Amino acid sequence: MILQIFVSMVVMDTWQYFAHRLMHANKFLYKHVHSKHHELVVPYAFGAIYCHFVEGIILDTGGAFLCVFFSGMTPLTGAIFFSFSFIKTIDDHSSLWLPTNIFPFVFQNTGAFHELHHQPYGKKYNFSTPFFVTWDKLLGTYLDHTLEKRKDGGVVVRPVLKGKKY
Ligand SMILES: [Zn+2]
Ligand SMILES: [Zn+2]
Repeated sequence: MILQIFVSMVVMDTWQYFAHRLMHANKFLYKHVHSKHHELVVPYAFGAIYCHFVEGIILDTGGAFLCVFFSGMTPLTGAIFFSFSFIKTIDDHSSLWLPTNIFPFVFQNTGAFHELHHQPYGKKYNFSTPFFVTWDKLLGTYLDHTLEKRKDGGVVVRPVLKGKKY
């Protein structure tokens, strides 16, 4: 089961990276499909699946099909894996940085990482979802960031562009 979940994580990330990047590179796909999801400059939890139905079919249903196909997962593993990925995606869009959240300790691909992608300057970076940042790092689209505590509580995500903090 652990191997099936790991294989599925790699397959899902690979599919989502390239399909997501294509949706930005292709002007027709961005304008008519993916821009719907990017209406959210400040994401919120329900925004995780706020998208055009074609994007839902390509990225999510297509990704799920490939995970099942390549991992050979059982229905039980599928229930666990897809619930887990869904919770992770919701967290990535929640704009919350909660001290009790364990995801930032396990994954470099966090809500802060994906929040940068939703900013107007971030659309050429951080295409990876939902688990790893490997493809972004390998293909030069990784945008690093810092987290600064605010006086009134919470944190601010700041991009580090070309070694320069913003
Ligand atoms: Zn995007
Ligand atoms: Zn998003």
